[in-house]
Amino acid sequence: MDDLKIINGAVYQNGDFYKTNVYIKDGKITAVSSEDRPTKDTYDAANAMVLPGFIDPHVHFSLDVGGHTTADDFASGSRTAAFGGVTTFVDFLDPTSNARDLKEAFEKRRKLSESSTLDYKLHATMKNPEGPLEKYVTTMRELGLDTLKVFTTYSESGRRTQDIAIKRLLELTKSHGFLLLAHIENDDLITLKDSFTHEDLTKSRPSESETVEALKLADFVKTTGGRLYMVHMSSGHTLKALKHRHSDILNSRFFVESCPQYLLFTRDCLHKKNGHLYTFAPPLRSGMERHYLQKHFEAIHTIGTDHAPFMKKEKEKAHLKDIPLGIGSIEHTFNVLYHRFGKALIDKMTLNPAKRMGLFPKKGILQKGSDADIAIVKSRDPYHINANHSACDYSLYTGLEVSTTIVSTLSRGRFILKDGQFIKQKGQFIKGEGIDD
Ligand SMILES: [Zn+2]
Repeated sequence: MDDLKIINGAVYQNGDFYKTNVYIKDGKITAVSSEDRPTKDTYDAANAMVLPGFIDPHVHFSLDVGGHTTADDFASGSRTAAFGGVTTFVDFLDPTSNARDLKEAFEKRRKLSESSTLDYKLHATMKNPEGPLEKYVTTMRELGLDTLKVFTTYSESGRRTQDIAIKRLLELTKSHGFLLLAHIENDDLITLKDSFTHEDLTKSRPSESETVEALKLADFVKTTGGRLYMVHMSSGHTLKALKHRHSDILNSRFFVESCPQYLLFTRDCLHKKNGHLYTFAPPLRSGMERHYLQKHFEAIHTIGTDHAPFMKKEKEKAHLKDIPLGIGSIEHTFNVLYHRFGKALIDKMTLNPAKRMGLFPKKGILQKGSDADIAIVKSRDPYHINANHSACDYSLYTGLEVSTTIVSTLSRGRFILKDGQFIKQKGQFIKGEGIDD
């Protein structure tokens, strides 16, 4: 007999909703079927959507940035995520230059991540590589990592990876079964002045720096035949330019992730009274650029949050150079974006990140044999967000209008959120087994 059935809900499958039941045993989905069979437990999802649990491919829990640590660790971060219907996330190792440091960074993060309620993977992160790149990649794969992030910028803190190394890594993606991720901003077009305040953030990191660098890296993808995943696209200009010049590889070999903050806010927020709280990199863009991003939403492959909140007090600094960059988003991402984009959002938070991050078909889909990772979401009359379960003392999403609530979240068949009540569980580290498409 199965452990649990979820009945009466609108179950999301292949881009549509079906009135059917989901059967679960030992953490796996055993059937999606409208027949009625006895089970030990029943959950009534009447008037609710039954969706695959959301997968956040881009989070930073317990991230250390020069004297500041993000407000959420793996325990509080995975808890706030559960309130947002998220069941799997991918966090980042500290940046390393060689294989030895990579191993150390891996051990360190594995220890930190033990308190996670959710299942998770880890991205390797490279900075200013030394020694043979192939050795680094081989070590990464031995550790069970199959995604690697590089930065094209942050030379001032020694994190930039040069073009020649990026091209070599793109070649290696084919022979070593991993996905290359890139933080894309042209380093030479970024201006850092000690006198800059938070209001200068967009001037300091102009959208042109993102666009020209993205086009260059798309060219590298073509010449090397490799695969690249662009994290946190901020500007509609970049997306438009990629669609125009590189539609042949867009989201088949050059994948685009964007984040809720770029789809919702504009650079005008930086000039508000609490403008210092809207500080992250890449920064907010013009209303026109946001408009393009919204208009070409279909060309955004995945939604990641880049969840990296810092406390209000840490943001209250006279100069930009002293402000830790990053905000929290993970809890509210589905609700705020579903309100604006509807059903078109769902695959970008489930199926697509599952495929890109090597989690499919274990995660990202409701079908027999997959993990029973499920978000149960109710539509309701529009309301304004006021809850915040993050350890951070503010959320930029407070007060925004939404029209759904995450009622319950299941991770491998166990409730981690049941009718609004959080239930702590033990998440699993998922070893990467290689990504080939
Ligand atoms: Zn990030």
